[in-house]
Amino acid sequence: LHAEFSLIQRETGFISGIVCVLHDVTEQQKNERERRQFVSNVSHELRTPLTSMRSYLEALTDGAWKDPEVAPNFLNVTQEETERMIRMINDLLSLSRMDSGTAKLDMELVNLNELFNYTLNRFDMMIKSEADATAGDNNRTETTTPKQYSIKREFTKRDLWVEIDTDKFMQVVDNIINNAIKYSPDGGVITCRLLETNNHVILSISDQGLGIPKKDLPHVFDRFYRVDKARSRAQGGTGLGLAISKEVIEKLNGRIWADSKEGKGSTFYISLPYQEAYEEDDLWDEN
Ligand code: ADP
Repeated sequence: LHAEFSLIQRETGFISGIVCVLHDVTEQQKNERERRQFVSNVSHELRTPLTSMRSYLEALTDGAWKDPEVAPNFLNVTQEETERMIRMINDLLSLSRMDSGTAKLDMELVNLNELFNYTLNRFDMMIKSEADATAGDNNRTETTTPKQYSIKREFTKRDLWVEIDTDKFMQVVDNIINNAIKYSPDGGVITCRLLETNNHVILSISDQGLGIPKKDLPHVFDRFYRVDKARSRAQGGTGLGLAISKEVIEKLNGRIWADSKEGKGSTFYISLPYQEAYEEDDLWDEN
């Protein structure tokens, strides 16, 4: 607590009272601490790919560029690290826009069943084109065959309407499905559900992956938090995807959370306020 005292003094000089104002600075100090922690995290996150690129570039300059076996591989690593840094900076920019309130939301009334189906169709297309490419490539060895997975849909029959910024919402769903794929075992099933409660619509995505330990579960939406840092980096992750997802969903007046059993899999949930769809008659009445 921060205290401020002032004396109430009459014209005669007589002191008739004391006013004490107490400021609770706990929140302020917490914000300041979090801000410092965040800057320190960003610096570390960017230093890691930069120092690794520096050593590859040094090796190339020292003569590795002449080695046709080694050089392409080293260049590849520096390229991947550059791509990851660009992704991280873009993620940081969208977080910063949301923090400062300058991110504009383009809200519209959307049929969630249709939108979720559309998103999942895109993933099904990717699975199909991967399978075609593998079938057509006889030189492909076991180790280069991409991971197999399938998507199962369990949707309520009733149309569910929500008011969302479609682009931003689709980024969140893409991100969660990509994580589910990333952490799924070969041949894993990703189950996507859509259901409703009294006044909320709930979308969920479950995988059969390695799961998230109980102690880590409350933190997976924190900026830069990863259960396994090395694994996330190796897969090109920035550790910011779920933090951005949380910001977006909260801006849409929804909630996002996760449930998981180690070794069995994880489920990510998004709940949004349910909107009554406009009756077509109403639209005609307005005209
Ligand atoms: P990343 O870029 O590391 O994937 P995210 O913010 O998307 O960052 O996720 C944060 C962390 O949460 C991941 O590093 C991972 O440890 C964990 N995680 C997210 N989704 C899953 C999942 N479906 N199964 C297991 N762990 C997950």
